[in-house]
Amino acid sequence: MTSTQHTTTRGTVLVVNSGSSSIKYQLVDPVGGEAIASGLVERIGEDVGTIKHTYAGSTTQRDEPIADHGAGLRLVLGLFDEIGPELASAHIVAVGHRVVHGGSDFAGPALVDDDVVRRIDALSPLAPLHNPPNLTGIQVARELLPDVPHVVVFDTAFFHTLPDAAATYAIDQGVATAYGVRRYGFHGTSHQFVSGEVARFLGRRVEDLNQIVLHLGNGASASAVRGGVAVETSMGLTPLEGLVMGTRSGDLDPAVLIHLQRNAGMSVDEIDDLLNRRSGLKGLAGENDFREIHRLVEEGDASARRALDVYIHRLRKYVGAYLAVLGRVDVITFTAGVGENDDIVRALALAGLEPLGIAVDAERNAGRKKQPVVISPDWTPTKVLVLPTNEELAIARQAVATIEAAGLEGTSEETDPAPAAAGHA
Ligand code: AMP
Repeated sequence: MTSTQHTTTRGTVLVVNSGSSSIKYQLVDPVGGEAIASGLVERIGEDVGTIKHTYAGSTTQRDEPIADHGAGLRLVLGLFDEIGPELASAHIVAVGHRVVHGGSDFAGPALVDDDVVRRIDALSPLAPLHNPPNLTGIQVARELLPDVPHVVVFDTAFFHTLPDAAATYAIDQGVATAYGVRRYGFHGTSHQFVSGEVARFLGRRVEDLNQIVLHLGNGASASAVRGGVAVETSMGLTPLEGLVMGTRSGDLDPAVLIHLQRNAGMSVDEIDDLLNRRSGLKGLAGENDFREIHRLVEEGDASARRALDVYIHRLRKYVGAYLAVLGRVDVITFTAGVGENDDIVRALALAGLEPLGIAVDAERNAGRKKQPVVISPDWTPTKVLVLPTNEELAIARQAVATIEAAGLEGTSEETDPAPAAAGHA
């Protein structure tokens, strides 16, 4: 994504994604899009933790006890100075933090202050597994890097524009309002980035395009984007709704939960574990990686065949639904691990739709895609694309746009805040 430049701010952004026992990080050049260094701290709080730091093409690994997130981040900063690039010369203009749930509260990225921290904390009941560790990462990073602005970028923010009809569950609205039960959508940073980059790649204004974005990774979601504004998405209150995923069920009759509780004696936690970690491709075929699924299908494995069929059927239902939501679709884009790499899934997802002006060209579709590419034939009114997502770059750009808007360090003379940076939030 080196050709798309959104800002000329000189400097780098440290992007941090803090999980319950892990910290993923990347030092990003928000102009060129380059990942200068990256790494992962894992098994925080366990007997032996691991940190892997990649810089200049080589990866350094350390195995040692990492007591908490603060210790983890201190190790990361130490490795920057030891292995490179030295923090003093990296010119970090902002730290960008990925936060999963911004609820109804956050319509875009926000500069971190104590009030923002409090508001993210208040949203924890909606994302009990994600927001608290995200917040821990923010707090330790603020302590260790107190002189740079910190910006939070929410997975939900791009879907703040969902029309009420798309965001509302048809349940007693007293209960819904009291407990924040509505559809929020997730993977928003990716859907926003990809829909913006699609427009750039095609040399079109995002305002003029109706798009379907299929983010197919281990987690998977679809979105309908009209003129750069999200109008539908497949994930809901949590990232469990919608498509069949690596280990998540996606849509099911809500009565399945009631049935299992009443008749299988399963607890809420057991059902949570079943639907989030033992379902999807994993639940159907015992494997959550499509490379394994395809290998098993080749060997004649009936469960893997069924998993592929169920996955594709659900995906096609969503594409059909979003055709109806949008009326006219200019572009359908595949992204993320499966979307970028799996030509079989891409071909099956849109097979037989020629009467609707949608087709995938076998030759153009073949193989893994590292760059944006059109995979539809020239005659179709709807273009089909593969466009690699880059959530870290998207977070870095949003962080820069946020500090520039706040008049903080990093502003320079030629700033061009583009749609993919923060324009839709
Ligand atoms: P993500 O969550 O975006 O990193 O996507 C991870 C998923 O992408 C894996 O679980 C695989 O199903 C899929 N994937 C990655 N590489 C390939 C590949 N070469 N061919 C098919 N699927 C792939």
